[in-house]
Amino acid sequence: MADAVLLGDEAVALGAIHAGLTASYAYPGTPSTEITEFLLGYAARHGRPHAAWASNEKTAFEEALGVCFVGRRALVSMKHVGLNVAADPFMNAALVAPHGGLVVAVADDPGMHSSQNEQDSRYYADFARIVCFEPADQQEAYDMTREAYEVSERFRIPVMVRLVTRLAHARSIVRLGEPRPENPLAKPPQTTSWILLPVNARRQWKALLARQGELRDYAGGSPYNRLTEGSGRFGVITTGIARNYYLENVDDLDSKPWHLHVGVYPAPTPLIRRFTEQVDRVLVLEDGYPFVERQLRTLLPTRYTVMGRETGEVSIDGELTPDTVRQALGLPVAAGVSIDAMMPPPARPPQLCQGCPHGDSYRALKEAVASVDEAVVTSDIGCYTLGALPPYSAIESCVCMGASVGMAKGAADAGFHPAFAVIGDSTFLHSGVTGLMDAVAANTDMTLVILDNGTVGMTGAQPTVLPSSRIQTLVMGLGVDPDHCHVLSAHPRHAAENADVLKREMAHHGLSVVVLVRECLEVVREHKAATRASGAQPVAQGATS
Ligand code: SF4
Repeated sequence: MADAVLLGDEAVALGAIHAGLTASYAYPGTPSTEITEFLLGYAARHGRPHAAWASNEKTAFEEALGVCFVGRRALVSMKHVGLNVAADPFMNAALVAPHGGLVVAVADDPGMHSSQNEQDSRYYADFARIVCFEPADQQEAYDMTREAYEVSERFRIPVMVRLVTRLAHARSIVRLGEPRPENPLAKPPQTTSWILLPVNARRQWKALLARQGELRDYAGGSPYNRLTEGSGRFGVITTGIARNYYLENVDDLDSKPWHLHVGVYPAPTPLIRRFTEQVDRVLVLEDGYPFVERQLRTLLPTRYTVMGRETGEVSIDGELTPDTVRQALGLPVAAGVSIDAMMPPPARPPQLCQGCPHGDSYRALKEAVASVDEAVVTSDIGCYTLGALPPYSAIESCVCMGASVGMAKGAADAGFHPAFAVIGDSTFLHSGVTGLMDAVAANTDMTLVILDNGTVGMTGAQPTVLPSSRIQTLVMGLGVDPDHCHVLSAHPRHAAENADVLKREMAHHGLSVVVLVRECLEVVREHKAATRASGAQPVAQGATS
């Protein structure tokens, strides 16, 4: 087979396809989105595998579980905070002993390039007591994903492939292997393992715990965990992508340290023991939390010096870079071009696209709340989060997907009036809808504003699971009073009327929902480009109501 130039995300996707993938599910989230984008493109050209965006990471995980239930191989991918949403099925999937391979590709974002925190998914793999692969480059992302399916079916566990932003979004040449066919359809021979009633769950939990020794043996013998001889009593442990930064700098040291690289977990304890017999001082380099560093401290007697993120040789937060690794190794910072000598680049704070419909919606909302002394305006995760910044300064919170609705309800329950929640259509469908159900049940004195631009704008204009035309039906179906459920055009020419509606609903003591509709400009551009390419007459775009 030929070589290919692939992003880390794409290497995972193609590795899964070549491992006989039947179906893949995801919710868009940087830096994992390109896994599903690649699968959708591949499926459009080749007719397989089944690839789909789901409402959220939990439903994506559950759909993948169903694929494994009938014996086939599934992939579920997400960004690190998405795993919090999928945590319930993720934890329990380790107990059901799936017999179709299940790979969970999670892309962490150390440094928070596009995230609200920088949690390390290796802890989740450890928490669920499953195997985790941590590729150092795109070739390993491809190879490890293929291997992950074999491990999943051999030990009957879900297997995690953990990426980080710099790997997910960088390209390299990848040597491809022979594709493997899909598994045949086959329900499990006995199904009690999937029925996690306490009587079964206790047995399954014991079985998972009993398999831990085999998992450790597997990781201990894996070629992805490698010990390289050095000289002296100093050693370095690298995990995942940190290996590249270490190898980039190691030749500048006077003598080569002993080097243990960890690419598969559970961490290979016998290999760590062999490594530590050779050294007295250990530096741990890992992108994320001090995961191996902490394990090392529990393994080693106090006479050892263990250095890393917890001791300050490496910053406790942020992503690793070749330069930070260099300094941690005690080397002077490499000579480079001094930025001080260059003209400082102009400041470019993140902002909404020029003409973004959210800007018009925020102007209407600000006009409405200007008529009261104080209002609570909670919000959520999407392009519209930029409404927190000038010139809008229109929203006051962004915590996690869907939190705006529950937070506005809580503020209203506590006695604050008026309370607004602002949420995008995709985030509403992801997990705002359940918060709205609570507000309907209590007829909470709040106003939910759904900014409906018909897409997941922030991650590259992926389609939402339901089109704009069905949002109002869904909202009313939950029981929102039709007299207090409005669908308005977010076009600037309607700004004054929209502000009036928002003022009226602010004065109403009870639940109201205002859906402000206008297509994301990126989607409009894509439609125009597609129309030009097809040679058809352009169709006027704009608000859907
Ligand atoms: S991508 Fe779409 S939603 Fe996001 S800022 Fe631009 S126009 Fe607005």
